[in-house]
Amino acid sequence: MTETVCLLANACLYVLALIFGAALGSFGNVLIWRIPRDESIVKPPSHCPKCGHRIRVYDNIPVLSYLWLRGRCRDCGASISPRYLLVELASGILVVGAAIAYGWSLGTLFYGVFLWALLVLAVIDFEHLLLPFAITIPMSLVGFGGAAIGATLPLGRALAGAGIGLLFFLAVTYAGRSAFKREAMGGGDIVFGLMGGMYRGMEKTVVMIFLASLLGVIVSVPLLLLHRKKSSDPIPFGPFLSAAAVVAFFWGDTLVKQYVSLFW
Ligand SMILES: [Zn+2]
Repeated sequence: MTETVCLLANACLYVLALIFGAALGSFGNVLIWRIPRDESIVKPPSHCPKCGHRIRVYDNIPVLSYLWLRGRCRDCGASISPRYLLVELASGILVVGAAIAYGWSLGTLFYGVFLWALLVLAVIDFEHLLLPFAITIPMSLVGFGGAAIGATLPLGRALAGAGIGLLFFLAVTYAGRSAFKREAMGGGDIVFGLMGGMYRGMEKTVVMIFLASLLGVIVSVPLLLLHRKKSSDPIPFGPFLSAAAVVAFFWGDTLVKQYVSLFW
């Protein structure tokens, strides 16, 4: 009997997490469009970028509306980028992942929002080479709050993680400036490092930095060799950081254990 109750409670949690995550994703799409364009995120209400018609409430249901309208505006028929659907789906899946890891707890809420922010930041940086403070600073404060009320990790570990993230990216920025006379990293990366550490502590921040650098090399070296990019072209680091942070989030402990077991 208790087992059935447990299963039901978990099923409810995952369904709620999926709905909440998809709704967050829908808000994320608004941020992805408006923050880089310096537009207000509340006014005007969502509208079609082609014909300007307001999106009706019943056409604004995450995932379902996109499928129902087959990715087109109801008024002018302009096609809507599949990115909207993908961000909503991915956000839903990430929040379900947080729910699987943290169950019915405040941790699920805080980490779900953290994973969502990683996704939004990755898309904005990929499209605009920008990791906006408008997201990383509030999210760092939310992370601090989560640790302070005991929902995520002990406050000391959160602050140590934030410190490591901040120092690493500060050091890279400074080194890039003095050694290569160019901006290797920017303020956006620095606050991103601080934010990631605030949610995950020191070890996983180190895992994130290591994986992100590895990913960056794996992706950018072939692009350079194939002359698809010049070495002076900026390559957004945010998507690598976000992907690495997601991997570190779900598999960081396993990776650290396996790495340590290589030597002991
Ligand atoms: Zn339209």
